[in-house]
Amino acid sequence: MKKLVRWVRIELGLYRNSKYETQYLNETNIRTAIYMSIVVISLEIWMLIRYVDKRPGLTFLEYFDGWTNYLILLSSAAISLTFAIRFRVRENAEERKKSIAGIVVGLLFLLLDILMFVRFVHVRKNMSFGDLFDESKYLIMLTILICAYLVFEFFFSSISHRSAAIYGQFLNVLFALICLGFGIETSVYDVSKERQILCFVTMVIYAACLLIWKPYVSIIILSVSFTYFYKDWKPIMEAYDSPYAQKILEANQINYLTFWIALTMVSISIYQQRLSEAKKDENLVAANKHLRKLAVEDELTGISNIYQFVQDAEEVMMNTSEPRIYLFINIENFKNYNDQFGYLAGNIFLKKIARLIKKTFEDCPVARQAYDHFVVLAHVDGVTEKVNSLREQVISINTDIYIDVNVGSYTPQSEMSESTVLTSQSTSSEQEMKAAGKMIDPRIAIDRARFACSLLKHKYDKHYMEYDSKINSDFHKRQYIVNNIDNAVEKGYIKVYYQPVVWSESHTLCGCEALARWDDPKYGFLSPADFIPVLEEYRQIHKLDKCIWETVCRDIQNVSSQGMHPIPVSLNFSRLDFELMDTATVLEELVEKYKVNKHDLHIEITESALTDDMGVLQSSINKLKEDGFSLWLDDFGSGYSSLNVLKDYSFDVLKIDMKFLSSFDSNEKSKIILNMIIDLASSLGMYSLTEGVETEEEADFLARVGCGRLQGYYFGKPMPLDQIIEKINNGTYVIKRLV
Ligand code: C2E
Ligand code: MG
Ligand code: MG
Repeated sequence: MKKLVRWVRIELGLYRNSKYETQYLNETNIRTAIYMSIVVISLEIWMLIRYVDKRPGLTFLEYFDGWTNYLILLSSAAISLTFAIRFRVRENAEERKKSIAGIVVGLLFLLLDILMFVRFVHVRKNMSFGDLFDESKYLIMLTILICAYLVFEFFFSSISHRSAAIYGQFLNVLFALICLGFGIETSVYDVSKERQILCFVTMVIYAACLLIWKPYVSIIILSVSFTYFYKDWKPIMEAYDSPYAQKILEANQINYLTFWIALTMVSISIYQQRLSEAKKDENLVAANKHLRKLAVEDELTGISNIYQFVQDAEEVMMNTSEPRIYLFINIENFKNYNDQFGYLAGNIFLKKIARLIKKTFEDCPVARQAYDHFVVLAHVDGVTEKVNSLREQVISINTDIYIDVNVGSYTPQSEMSESTVLTSQSTSSEQEMKAAGKMIDPRIAIDRARFACSLLKHKYDKHYMEYDSKINSDFHKRQYIVNNIDNAVEKGYIKVYYQPVVWSESHTLCGCEALARWDDPKYGFLSPADFIPVLEEYRQIHKLDKCIWETVCRDIQNVSSQGMHPIPVSLNFSRLDFELMDTATVLEELVEKYKVNKHDLHIEITESALTDDMGVLQSSINKLKEDGFSLWLDDFGSGYSSLNVLKDYSFDVLKIDMKFLSSFDSNEKSKIILNMIIDLASSLGMYSLTEGVETEEEADFLARVGCGRLQGYYFGKPMPLDQIIEKINNGTYVIKRLV
């Protein structure tokens, strides 16, 4: 039963439509009214002419009286058409302005309406008020229609689209009522003159089926219209008093009923069809809206995403003459916040920060770039104060854990004025340059601000860095390195330098370390400090390392082929190598290709590489060890987790960081610590090697305390292969292999 009631409710439309559906149906009706009004206007013009043709020689007033009904229909159709056109114009217009033509049309028809009214009342001056009101109902409706249209036109710019569509529906109701009323009256009149009922049929189809109503409204319109028409038509047929008329009456009772049922069904089906279109359209619009939101919004914080920021920034820079500055905001230690409080709390924290940034830089484009990075295109005026205030606010959100805010900035014009002699240029070229600076791609500007921000890492007393000409040249160097690593590898700009490693007791050569150098045609000689961190940051380091390993293998092969006995070489591995390539396979292939003995290659992994993502690294490192390579732990003591690393991994050699020797003369403690580390290494079954040996005293001390291998400038700086071979050949270095 419940289901039946529900079904009836749905079929009859006894429920509230969504705003979108109502709007959709209203707009469809306004569109339909365009066609219907054109049909009615054409018909009525034809009727007016026909009236004159059929009754030649009447006075103007007589024609005017006879035309009244046609003019009412014509006027209501014309006003409906004008409204529909204006509605459509409004929909597509960028600027909503009232139209003089629209107002003139409205006023002209209002004038005609008033004239008809005056004449109508004048002709029927003896009629009672009730009868007069009844007879003039169409004129009254027309007056309301015209006035409503004029009101719409006057409030054209301020009325909302939704209200305009509701307005349209109201006018449609009036227009439909006028059409229906006249349809019925004209057909009743025609029937009484033994003519057809076409007018009624046309109008009822228009009012109930072309225009879309809720099914129950259509049923009411059709039922009332048919009853009304039947009520007026029946006595006319009965008055004929002939069996033929009687048969027509009976037959048409069935015809009307069938016709009523058919039209009811058609109107319901049209409504349901249009409604399902509206629903589909609504879903599509909602999906589009969602997609558009995703395209412009950062899902987590609700502020703009970087794509939207780039667009906004471009627009601001195009339209403002006021100096602007790009800011890159990084939340320091956010990772720890996440680790300590969990992912969800981290998200809430990021949302709070986003809100604070938005509030601090109120009328400026603000976006979340990624993770805990935000970008702003701020006003130059007062920017440092705002950055400081933001920092204080962010820090005060949570006092339980160390959180800080680092900001890098980039002012588009600054680079231009610093890198060019602006002052000596003419005013116009100065403006051109400023314009060029302003038009810089926001993505590049953000990258520069980000670079300035990255320089704040580990500078615990500084939290704001402006991108200046010095940073600019470093930045370009970095970009150059990232963009040219492939080329450098291909063209042979990457060179291997070998630094000797000696036995501490005899100072004889036990091996050497392969160290990368970049001999660049543009930048000259680059040291690892210039390119290793950049290549790591941009995840390109594996390209360099593979090149170094291959060069070393080739060098070993060449040395062997010249009849010399190669010395072992240690290779530096970056933590990222394990992520970016299958290190074990790459190394195996090289060893195979150049016929290198695995004992001649040592693998150096720096201690800091082993602090995170242990699981992933551990298996790769174990694999290398199983393959027969000797593993060396580089820079031991430079990080924070030295002892843990010793516990978790099994290395063959411990390379003690050169920082322990930096205060060798001044600080007695460093000797004690060195001694302890060497003892610890030996008790864990590892050999030790100390890096950065620069003096004889250091070398002697290390030999005394049992450090087996030494490396440092005292024994030789990194040098090209031919130099080291020459030194071996002339006896400077004497090779002593372990086996
Ligand atoms: P590292 O592996 O600890 O290499 C030792 C660094 O100390 C080298 O610097 C070397 O020139 C320097 N050195 C050696 N003896 C002395 C000394 O007595 N005094 C001083 N002051 N320095 C000394 P370099 O060649 O600039 O390399 C720096 C770092 O760059 C290396 O540290 C290593 O971590 C990285 N690196 C170098 N080549 C490569 C490579 O091919 N691949 C990877 N991934 N990293 C590399
Ligand atoms: Mg090393
Ligand atoms: Mg080292």
